[in-house]
Amino acid sequence: MANSIWTIEEFTCASCGTNYTATKEEHSEAHSGSFKCGICNGVVHAWSGKHHFFGWQAVKTKPPVFGRRWAGIEW
Ligand SMILES: [Zn+2]
Repeated sequence: MANSIWTIEEFTCASCGTNYTATKEEHSEAHSGSFKCGICNGVVHAWSGKHHFFGWQAVKTKPPVFGRRWAGIEW
């Protein structure tokens, strides 16, 4: 059977902190590659082995403000 297993993995650029997601695909043959950050051109992830990553997408960062903690509210 030629089932391919795809999983989504998250990576963070060590240089600028941009978050990325990539689809990891399992292969029966070894692949190697790397992905460079679109912001700072640093290597976010390099891989080699029986898997490959594709579909890199920058993750929109969540709003930095989540509001105040809802402390003290009792239901
Ligand atoms: Zn970066």
